[in-house]
Amino acid sequence: MPLLYYWRRDNYRKDLDYGASYHLNQGNPVMHEVETGDSLWAFTRTADGRYVLAAELIVQAKTMNRPDFRYGDYRVWGDVDRSRYFRVEGAPSVERIIRFLSIRTEAQVLGRSFQGHAAVRKITDDDHRILREAARDLPLEPRARILPEEKLEAALIMGDRSSVEQLVHEEKPGVAEERKQYLYEEAPQRNPNLVGRLQNLYEGHCQICWWDPVSEYGEPLCEGHHIQWLSRGGDDDFDNLMLVCPNHHRAIHRCDAPLDWGDMAYDFGDHREVVAMDRHLEEAGA
Ligand SMILES: [Zn+2]
Ligand SMILES: [Zn+2]
Repeated sequence: MPLLYYWRRDNYRKDLDYGASYHLNQGNPVMHEVETGDSLWAFTRTADGRYVLAAELIVQAKTMNRPDFRYGDYRVWGDVDRSRYFRVEGAPSVERIIRFLSIRTEAQVLGRSFQGHAAVRKITDDDHRILREAARDLPLEPRARILPEEKLEAALIMGDRSSVEQLVHEEKPGVAEERKQYLYEEAPQRNPNLVGRLQNLYEGHCQICWWDPVSEYGEPLCEGHHIQWLSRGGDDDFDNLMLVCPNHHRAIHRCDAPLDWGDMAYDFGDHREVVAMDRHLEEAGA
């Protein structure tokens, strides 16, 4: 079942400024009634008050958020290759189209029909086809690209500001000034300390498979992974980090596997892998 989502303008803007996240959050459980492969349509409001299509996420995964998460319990992830962010500047208004769909939109100001839990609605397959048609020739948003996360994490682990700058520079239009400063100044200084804390806490084990390179090779070969990717707006915080073996780290990135806080498992699409030990996350969530 496809969904239609009203993306508040400030949240939409932040998403693009901090690195297109290709996921959306809501407090309404309807959010998880969408099926994998279905579309989650998002529209937003422009500065001059027009309603325009913002994105079509082709659903790849559905996860629960951490208990204290401010944007709601339910998260839907788009397939990065198949989902689309539309360019909103200069885009045509879709207000008449949205009012024409099968959902109720009585409020005079369209956004008021989408407040609170009503921000996400089930739509019919016919509605979906109408939106597809409306989106057919829309230009895509050039900023909705993801920085190469593995390289970004590696540069932070080395505390290497110039490599971080180089990566962000190559992706110039995608990252806000404020975010750049964070990635250049703060993150490279903090990261080695935070990963060191995890190495101590878990005695170097992979938090997923409990591999123990310190005993086996005498080397701390596990790596810090950012649960919410840095390239998608995540922060270099202790409770956004996990210690994982290089194999798991590679697999999480290549498969774009999100962590589901509902059962503390990584969702690899065809199977899930439970996190064996998550002491520092439990404390953060408590
Ligand atoms: Zn592992
Ligand atoms: Zn990682």
